[in-house]
Formats: sequence, C-alpha cells, structure tokens
Amino acid sequence: MNEFEIIKHYFTVASHRKDVLMGPGDDCALLQVPPHSLLAVSTDTLVSGVHFFADMDPMALGHKALAVNLSDLAAMGADPCWVSLALTLPEVDESWIKGFCAGFFELAEYYNVALVGGDMTRGPLSITVTVHGTLPEGKGLRRNGARVGDGIYVTGTLGDAALGLQQVQGKVTVPEQYKDFVRTKFEHPHPRILAGQALRDIATSALDLSDGLAGDLAHVARASGMRAQLELEQLPLSAAMLATVSREQAWELALTGGDDYELCFTVPELYRGQLETALAHCGVKFTRVGRMLAGEPGVELTSKGRPYQLASQSWDHFRSV
Ligand code: ADP
Ligand code: MG
Repeated sequence: MNEFEIIKHYFTVASHRKDVLMGPGDDCALLQVPPHSLLAVSTDTLVSGVHFFADMDPMALGHKALAVNLSDLAAMGADPCWVSLALTLPEVDESWIKGFCAGFFELAEYYNVALVGGDMTRGPLSITVTVHGTLPEGKGLRRNGARVGDGIYVTGTLGDAALGLQQVQGKVTVPEQYKDFVRTKFEHPHPRILAGQALRDIATSALDLSDGLAGDLAHVARASGMRAQLELEQLPLSAAMLATVSREQAWELALTGGDDYELCFTVPELYRGQLETALAHCGVKFTRVGRMLAGEPGVELTSKGRPYQLASQSWDHFRSV
C-alpha cells in the first residue's frame, strides 16, 4: 500500500459528527465551531525511545497518544470534538498500523471525537496528535486562577503510572494481584474528561498531572502567584502502591513520578459541597491534598504539620519556582 491508500484505508473513518463539514482528504478539514464557543487546542508529540519504548504494543500506543492529548482538554474543562494525527513511521508495517488504529479509534469513539486530518511521513517513529475541543464563552480552567484559601484536590490515586514504569524496567516487584493494574495505569491512562467538564463551573484552576504532583502544582503556584501547601498524609495511594513500596517511596513516586494523567485542581472552601455532588455524579473519586496560601510562589511539602524533605533531595521541603 502507498501513503494515500493507507490514509484512505486506515485513517478515513466516517464521522457521526455533523460539525465535520470536511474530514480527511482535502487540503484542510472544515469544522463548524458552535456559536458563542471558545476553541481549545492542544498538541503533544510522542517520540519512540523518549516517550515510549520502541516495542510498545501498538494498540496501547494508539490509545495513549490520544489519551495524553484528551487529558489536556480535560484539564481545561473542554468538550472534546476533533483530532488530527501526524505519524512518522520508519516503514509501512500494516499490522502495527492496524493495532495503533484499534487503540486510537476505540478511545476516539468513546468520546465521539472525529479524526479530521493529519500527515504521514517516513522517518524515526514519532506521533503528533492535535486535539480540538470547545468551551462556552468565558469558561476554561486556567492555571492562574487559584485563590488564597482554596483547597487543592486531585482525582484518582497518584504514582501508579511511575510504579508501572518501574515494573516494566524490572526495578520493583509488584505483588502478582496488582501487576495488571499498574501496567494499565502506565500504558493505558484514561483522560478525566467528565471530571474536567464537571469542574468547569466550580474549580478556580486546574491542570493534568503528567510530570508528578510537586512539579505540576508548582506551575499553578507560579501562575497564580501564591504558595501551595501539600499534606503528604493526604496523598491518595493505591493498594498496589502500598503493597509494593514504603510510604516514603510512595510519596516520592506520587510527587515526582510522571504519566498519571489525573487532574489537580483548586476549589474555594465555599464550593466544597458543590464539588462533592458534581464529581460523585460522574463517578470520579477525588481527594483534598492541601491548600493555597499567601506567600512566595512555590510548593511546600508537610508531614504531620512539619516541613518534609524528600529522600531523593530532588525536592526541597519548600521549592521556589
Ligand atoms: P497535503 O499534501 O495537502 O499535506 P497529504 O497528502 O499530507 O496532503 O494528506 C492528504 C489528506 O489526507 C489530507 O486531508 C490529510 O489531512 C489527510 N491525512 C494525511 N495523513 C493522515 C492521517 N494520519 N490521519 C488522517 N488523515 C490524514
Ligand atoms: Mg501533508
């Protein structure tokens, strides 16, 4: 198959979306943006050997390439609509492309996201995905909106993807009953789209966790011009995590491990009831892990009310940004 046949055969999928006036095949896609809406756009590239192992299961890779992009839309509170896909492939390996598409389109269909175009080139394996979503005018969960006194919250449990990576690398021995769980968290993250939408009218700021809570929260602290105080005892840790490593190592993974794709967000105390109702409604577990305080922008780690220093020294108890 040549490039055009591959695009036609594998990447031209009829969409049920009425707002796709022109999908793959012309010079541009033509998309009908609803009136009084904002367009939310985000791109991420995954490079073989940098962001994933070259032999990663193509189906998991197809899923993850889209999932990490949808996670950015979730963190903005946007409704996912359209996606474009630029693939650089070393060779035409149809079974690989088939697997990749299976993972990619399964997730796209789940959220009714239409693939509307892309590009195909030959070269070292790399995948660039651009997602487009919409938001009502005036909405959007930015990083700079946190206020002094807001609670800091996260969805799900933290550090499991990093534990999954360590398992793949043979650095830890996860008990048998948890092996699949951590592998799935690492290879098959699920974007928190529903939570993001539910937080749209409640949270003052939000972002998705791709590099570990400590570093990612520092972006919010800096953008909002205040101090973020985390209580380590509150960090949500999975049974798999607690069965595999010590509590201190678990904190370290939760704070500095990547690839969780959970949401971290801030909510004024006044909206706490509303928050519980909204997230219970979409079945997402969440935990309060700290609060925003006036002061030098940075992230402060505390345990039992006292400053805490990570063993790795990669994080001071108070890190300025
Ligand atoms: P151009 O030369 O105008 O860049 P291409 O030959 O790259 O066009 O692509 C032809 C059409 O196929 C375009 O509409 C493009 O959006 C679409 N396309 C190319 N690669 C992909 C892909 N991986 N997934 C979906 N659509 C694609
Ligand atoms: Mg092109």
